[in-house]
Amino acid sequence: AAKHAGVRHRSHQSELDVVAGEQALLAAEMRAALDTGQFRVVYQPIVSLPDGRIVSVEALVRWEHPTRGFVSPVEFIPVAEQNGLIVELGAWILRTACAQAVMWRNELGEAAPERMSVNVSARQLAEPGFADVVASVLAWTGLGARHLIVEVTETAVFGGGQTVQTVKDLHELGVKIALDDFGTGHSSLGLLQTIPVDVLKVDKSFVDGITMAGRHAVIATALIQVSNGLGLMAVAEGVETAEQAAELHRLGYRLAQGYHFGRPVAEPDFTGARVAVV
Ligand code: C2E
Ligand code: CA
Ligand code: CA
Ligand code: CA
Repeated sequence: AAKHAGVRHRSHQSELDVVAGEQALLAAEMRAALDTGQFRVVYQPIVSLPDGRIVSVEALVRWEHPTRGFVSPVEFIPVAEQNGLIVELGAWILRTACAQAVMWRNELGEAAPERMSVNVSARQLAEPGFADVVASVLAWTGLGARHLIVEVTETAVFGGGQTVQTVKDLHELGVKIALDDFGTGHSSLGLLQTIPVDVLKVDKSFVDGITMAGRHAVIATALIQVSNGLGLMAVAEGVETAEQAAELHRLGYRLAQGYHFGRPVAEPDFTGARVAVV
């Protein structure tokens, strides 16, 4: 890239080779990481805007590499998708998150978050029998299906094969379906007619500019109207400031998630003071 001019002298092709080599290395290390317990799951609160209650949490995977340090899921999830390891890693994340939800329920009772939201990638969704995997995790952990939300993206749903049927099967089990990064795909609205959806996660890109009158606010308003009209829950993603929270609340959003309310952590504080909302 231009910004490296004069610093690096590698050709474009050799940079691609380096990236490919790096990915192959990551792939090999990921196998070992699974076996030696280097992955962790952290939880980010999703709060009710009217009262600041933490109503659910989103499970997000972390990789603590022994020498590289923290590796972002943005880097390793695509690699795990490619080499198929996401199937095993994803099942582990699902078990871990569901088991955690049950522990909180036992420990905290009513103060526990109502729902656990887990990201599912294209490859997992395309795997035959994925709904059975979810059913057996629920049975094994004892978590009620209504306490689980599965987050899918448009790309994952249109990934081909049995994905649409799998989403329907999950919904039949009583699991809630969330459309992640809503509004960023090619057919976000069309998808609402294709699969059963309970939750719309309105992408951060629409939240970012919301306090400046303009396109973002118009789109965010349209999305909450769609959500309300269809009887869905809308979650505004990536809320970083009190001003954004206030504006979303004003536009009719009831649920939000973002650094303003809490970062993803291993043990969110559910018993402490209510999150300052607006
Ligand atoms: P996502 O599902 O859209 O998750 C939201 C991402 O936004 C998370 O990044 C979260 O930490 C970050 N985030 C939350 N609030 C804010 C905010 O206020 N500002 C900003 N700038 N960022 C915020 P993370 O954990 O790095 O994950 C990135 C992506 O990696 C996720 O995007 C998801 O696509 C994927 N991912 C993470 N964990 C998992 C997992 O367990 N399974 C699968 N399949 N994918 C995962
Ligand atoms: Ca998500
Ligand atoms: Ca998202
Ligand atoms: Ca995203």
